[in-house]
Amino acid sequence: MALDECLACGGGHLKEVADLGESPVLTGALFDDRATARAAACGQMLLGACVECGHVQNLAFDPDRVQYDVTYDNSLHFSGTFQQYAEELAAHLVDDLGVRGKRVVEIGSGKGDFLRSIAALGGNTGTGYDPTVETSTDIPGVRLVRDYFRPDDQAEPYDLLVCRHVLEHLDDPASLLRNLSASAPPGALHYFEVPAAEFNFGPDGLWDCIYPHVSYFSRGSLAALIGRCGFEITDIRPAFHGQFIAVEARAGNDAAAVRAGSETILDLVERFAERHERAVRRWRAEVARLRADGAFVAVWGAGSKGVNFLNAVDPTGRVPAVDINPRKWGRFLPWGGHQVIGPMDLVGRSPAQIIVTNPVYTDEIRRTVQGLGVAAEMAIA
Ligand SMILES: [Zn+2]
Repeated sequence: MALDECLACGGGHLKEVADLGESPVLTGALFDDRATARAAACGQMLLGACVECGHVQNLAFDPDRVQYDVTYDNSLHFSGTFQQYAEELAAHLVDDLGVRGKRVVEIGSGKGDFLRSIAALGGNTGTGYDPTVETSTDIPGVRLVRDYFRPDDQAEPYDLLVCRHVLEHLDDPASLLRNLSASAPPGALHYFEVPAAEFNFGPDGLWDCIYPHVSYFSRGSLAALIGRCGFEITDIRPAFHGQFIAVEARAGNDAAAVRAGSETILDLVERFAERHERAVRRWRAEVARLRADGAFVAVWGAGSKGVNFLNAVDPTGRVPAVDINPRKWGRFLPWGGHQVIGPMDLVGRSPAQIIVTNPVYTDEIRRTVQGLGVAAEMAIA
């Protein structure tokens, strides 16, 4: 698939909007030592926007550079805030859409956290496909397959197909969606979720452009993609505080596939590059100032936003990232080689400032920090 074509609507008029330089190809990767982390592979981030549907994609993306394997850990389920959102979504599918005693297939299931919720809430059975997953699981009713889901006539039948945070990683999402709609069991429901470009490029988003994401979908571009691939969209809405877009669809013809709203997103994206550069300059100066005073500074969150922020503002890799996921503790983040520490490690170190890269988690982080008896100023990046 040539990246000079819009991955969402198929249009051929893409406009270069931001050159974000080099970025680690796998922001979710963790390394056992600093030297290996600092040698992590990087790729070019050159964003282009489709003037027809407002879709944004990395024109320099090379799919061969992104190999997902079991060292990839992007689970957000250690956060109570995120877990609550996932539970509410599972409850919506079970209670409002009648997914009870049904067969659920999830593409990109990770370690099966979402399948666990929907299996428990609705007495459903689930199969999760993910090339990064260990297949042994003790989740009742759930089976994990370490592979990609390949939709065709032989594929596992389902009543609900869940595909969260996958489409933005694919260099040809239309191909997967066309195969899905062509082989979908009659009446089966499909739930798609992606990060929202409206948030990523909006006033509260700065650190969300990462190499594994070839696409940045807005509501208009996601509807254009799903609608042209043989699906009828029954609902499309913002989710998770506007940070995601959720779509429910069934195989069918979508006569009303939306092609609206591209002006707003194009406007946001065009201002993004300058805003990003200003923020990087400001934070570099702030972190350097605090560290020159001998203060201890930490960034909260070793997820993609944290990695992105740290690599941009602290390229020497001296500021640690605090994360509540114990699997990450003591390990190192790609490119900058920033070390991941646990919240407990803040005790006794009197941080002057804790920088929060996702404002949605601020209350949760504040409670955790206060619970540890650590007094630190919280700053939102
Ligand atoms: Zn387009």
